[in-house]
Amino acid sequence: MATLRISTERCKSCGYCILACPSKALRLSGQLNKEGYDYVANDESKCTKCGICYTVCPDNVFEILE
Ligand code: SF4
Ligand code: SF4
Repeated sequence: MATLRISTERCKSCGYCILACPSKALRLSGQLNKEGYDYVANDESKCTKCGICYTVCPDNVFEILE
C-alpha cells in the first residue's frame, strides 16, 4: 500500500493542500517547524493517496511512496 510522506520542515503553512484535498485528510498540525511555520498533518484513515496534494504544494512537501 502506498504511503504519503510529509517533509514537515519544508511546509510554509500556505494551506493550498488543505483546500485541494478531496478527502479532507489534511489540516494544520498546530505545531511549528524550525522555520516557524505551522506545518501540515495527514489523517491516514481518510487519505486515499490520490496525489493531489503532491501536485499543488509549491514547496515539495509531499511524496507518494509505493
Ligand atoms: S494524497 Fe490525496 S487524499 Fe491524501 S492528503 Fe493528499 S490530496 Fe488528500
Ligand atoms: S501546500 Fe505545501 S507548503 Fe502549503 S500548507 Fe500544504 S504542505 Fe504546506
